[in-house]
Amino acid sequence: MLCQRCKKRDALIHLSGGSPGFTGHKSKHYCRECADTYFARTPGMNSARDLIRLSDFYRSKLYDELESEFREAFDNSTSEACVRGSELMRRFLKKRLAEDNIKLNSDGFDMLLHDFFGSRHFYDRLDRIKAKRLALSCSSRERRRAGAG
Ligand SMILES: [Zn+2]
Repeated sequence: MLCQRCKKRDALIHLSGGSPGFTGHKSKHYCRECADTYFARTPGMNSARDLIRLSDFYRSKLYDELESEFREAFDNSTSEACVRGSELMRRFLKKRLAEDNIKLNSDGFDMLLHDFFGSRHFYDRLDRIKAKRLALSCSSRERRRAGAG
């Protein structure tokens, strides 16, 4: 599908009623460049531009802390758990940035938060934690079976 604005490049960004912050009625299909222009001009959409990210070093340090202090942030078993986890991560990131004396406006914070939630490193870690949990429940089952026999 071609970008509906420039009609030259492939449309990579698709906005519809379900997209965060998007209030339009008609869905939109833009290439990256045109999407950026659209986000910059549309009130409330500036944070969707993804201009800044956390460094890999800082992000993984924060995941380590999150994993040891707030393990439930990695619980995505139900949609309520997801909402709770997301809220926890938002508060955690806000507090940690303040402690590290990093001041951002709300658009900047939302960009970093989006990276914190959405990076593939988060999903890698989620998988690792799940695998660990599974291994734990397996071994306790094994133990029970061993005890019964
Ligand atoms: Zn375009």
